[in-house]
Amino acid sequence: MPSPLQFPDSIPLAQCPTPLQALRYRQKQSPNIRLWCKRDDLTGSVLSGNKVRKLEFILADALRQGADTLITCGGLQSNHCRATALVAAQYGLRCRLILRGEQNSASSDGNLLLSELAGAEIEIYSPREYHANLPQLFLRAEQVVKARGSQPYSIPTGASNDVGLWGYVACARELALDFERHNIHSPLVVCAAGSGGTLAGLSAGLNHFSPGAQVLGVAVCDSAEYFAKRVKADIQAAQARFVDSGLSLPHPPMIVDDYIGPGYAIGYPEVFSVIRDLARSDGLVLDPVYTGKAFYGMLEELAQGRHQQREIVFIHTGGVFGLFPYKNEL
Ligand SMILES: *Cc1c(COP(=O)(O)O)cnc(C)c1O
Repeated sequence: MPSPLQFPDSIPLAQCPTPLQALRYRQKQSPNIRLWCKRDDLTGSVLSGNKVRKLEFILADALRQGADTLITCGGLQSNHCRATALVAAQYGLRCRLILRGEQNSASSDGNLLLSELAGAEIEIYSPREYHANLPQLFLRAEQVVKARGSQPYSIPTGASNDVGLWGYVACARELALDFERHNIHSPLVVCAAGSGGTLAGLSAGLNHFSPGAQVLGVAVCDSAEYFAKRVKADIQAAQARFVDSGLSLPHPPMIVDDYIGPGYAIGYPEVFSVIRDLARSDGLVLDPVYTGKAFYGMLEELAQGRHQQREIVFIHTGGVFGLFPYKNEL
């Protein structure tokens, strides 16, 4: 047995353990592998997806610091911003969102609609301005919040930092029990990589709880080198901040960046086709931004014979609300 990890404080937000489900998809064509899905899309109804696990640790840190306003950022259809807005409302905090995109449609859809519904204060910037000035936009938002006598707490993109990554260390602990229950040995565990925190937490956590498992991250933006550096830096930051946690630096996860397509949040035909197939074979709904690309990338990597594992575990990180704005492509 590994020595117990000392987790930082957290506040329960996610409905867990989430189910680990065997998939029917392509079972007949590929009888020698078993495809599993860890249903982290079921961590809640609207407060759902992978960000909820990260926010359990982030929220505890924010409350400990006496914050009453959460500030974070992302795209117009950010799952992370929607989850943060709902968490804030659930805990009686205010929420301010710095969003990237063109505000061209008259009506809000998907995640943006839910963030508005939860009462978040929303600022929208063009992608150019957002990318050029994000640190200043955070500073300005903090000043606005302080000027009205409130106490801000800023959460980085995707809640991916030394605190948020513990959400997926905790998920790895859950997975170790799933593996035991379903008799799964030496699996390949696959997730999408967007801001890298899920991949970092899973790598560090599985290294501790299921050392026979290997991790594959499928990039949906940025390069494999970027994520390799990012994962290492975030885990090292967590080690430095939680010195007595017992967290160790794992072997670097495998990362592929061949399935981004035309760009972040731009779907392509193979991805839409996998989304349709999974919905029909298993009643599982993926999204074009993260899980659809990651699932498609995983299938391609397996088809090319790059992995020898017979047990493949896909982490379904959520994202269903981001699907609706793509209705025309679907
Ligand atoms: C944010 C997100 C991811 C990516 O997770 P990171 O920790 O940011 O890499 C994957 N899937 C969905 C649905 C997400 O919202």
